[in-house]
Amino acid sequence: MKQLRTPIVSVLGHVDHGKTTLLDKIRRTRVTAKEAGGITQHIGATEIPIDLIKQICKDIWNVKVTIPGLLFIDTPGHKAFTNLRRRGGALADLAILIVDVNEGFKPQTEEAVSILRTFKTPFVVAANKIDRIPGWQSSEYAPFLKSWAQQDDFTKQKLENKIYELIGDLYRFGFSADRFDRIKDFTRTVAIVPISAITGEGIPELLMILVGLAQKYLEENLRLQVEGKAKGTILEVKEEKGLGITCDVILYDGTLKVGDTIAIAGKDDVIVTHVKGILKPRPAKEMRVESKFQSVKSVTAAAGVKLVAPNLEGVLAGSEFEAVESEEDIKNFRERVKKEYEEISIQTDEEGVVLKTDTLGSLEALINELKEIEIPIKKAEVGDVDKRDVVEASANRDELNRVILAFNVKLLPGVEEEAAKYGVRIFKEDIIYTLLDKVKQWREEEKL
Ligand code: GDP
Ligand code: MG
Repeated sequence: MKQLRTPIVSVLGHVDHGKTTLLDKIRRTRVTAKEAGGITQHIGATEIPIDLIKQICKDIWNVKVTIPGLLFIDTPGHKAFTNLRRRGGALADLAILIVDVNEGFKPQTEEAVSILRTFKTPFVVAANKIDRIPGWQSSEYAPFLKSWAQQDDFTKQKLENKIYELIGDLYRFGFSADRFDRIKDFTRTVAIVPISAITGEGIPELLMILVGLAQKYLEENLRLQVEGKAKGTILEVKEEKGLGITCDVILYDGTLKVGDTIAIAGKDDVIVTHVKGILKPRPAKEMRVESKFQSVKSVTAAAGVKLVAPNLEGVLAGSEFEAVESEEDIKNFRERVKKEYEEISIQTDEEGVVLKTDTLGSLEALINELKEIEIPIKKAEVGDVDKRDVVEASANRDELNRVILAFNVKLLPGVEEEAAKYGVRIFKEDIIYTLLDKVKQWREEEKL
């Protein structure tokens, strides 16, 4: 029988809605749940073993477990999520969409939902900060339903109204959603779990639903099985003192060993290199870089590690890699990567805007969104905006298409001057939705 691996869970949501606090709270439970097996820190991720999850869920636990735990991606936000790609979609198996229940949907929430939709990632909504609902009586770590039973009618109604608003917002994106305890089929309806990342209320149900979903959705798809070949995604490319250029990666399949040859999808071609070192963060954080990491001989999925290897210069965040053993393997990998790029980069329209983004994931999400609002695309690429992009955009006949959309990338020197000269309009934003809104608005105004 194949071994089930740890599902990867990404936490998404608008800034300040509580992503970091939620992960901290889950981590801190270790102090209260002393017997639970240790939480493991990874590069960019935290592994919570199933025994600890069970302890947090205590009385309400009612699922049969087949997974070893959950690996939460720490680097929160859409950037990390769109970086975390694997063939056929996002690397994260599941996601938590966190929304401040008092504030409701915000631009980054909308962005997160559209990304989840693009990648068809199952998710649970954590309606956070319920302790801020006027009149709310908190009890530490209580299951939501227990806490709920203790509230007065007025307070209950307040929360209900907020939940209805969330249901409405999700409906706009084509999702049917409901409070978790009113759902019969979790594969059809998105669960909303009211929680407080400060008091811990609702976290038991949140975790239990995540475990249930992980098992239901993913066992069927066999996406959680550890197979032979090591496969992973580059989270970040970083210069590390004394080590040179290193890659923080999430390994999602197989076992990777020091000395393995790996092929990485580079910007222009496949980069072949060999693993010189695999580093894990030390359990007790230390200040000096050299002692921050612990060198290991091998690592098994799912895990976050830092890789030391030569030739990492051209590597892009969001790229895939895998272990290769022969020229044949490299050839296959190259063909597969090429095919995937082709699937993403759309058939270039003759007329259309120029799109530049920071990662393949954000490129894919934006292409998807632009198609939906029927904006043609002439060129879609990962990378900073250069003068060639300006020339390409200026060659459009329709003035509405003489536009560059720059998402989370830089304008290289001279680009702005060149754009002014050729009458090319540049929209540069860090939030997908703001970018789309500004372009839409501009097009409306120009059409008049
Ligand atoms: P992030 O930007 O999504 O990571 O948000 P943070 O986790 O940094 O939280 C932003 C602020 O909201 C911090 O001041 C938190 O203390 C606060 N916060 C987060 N969750 C809760 C909650 O459940 N209740 C209350 N009252 N405050 C919260
Ligand atoms: Mg944060």
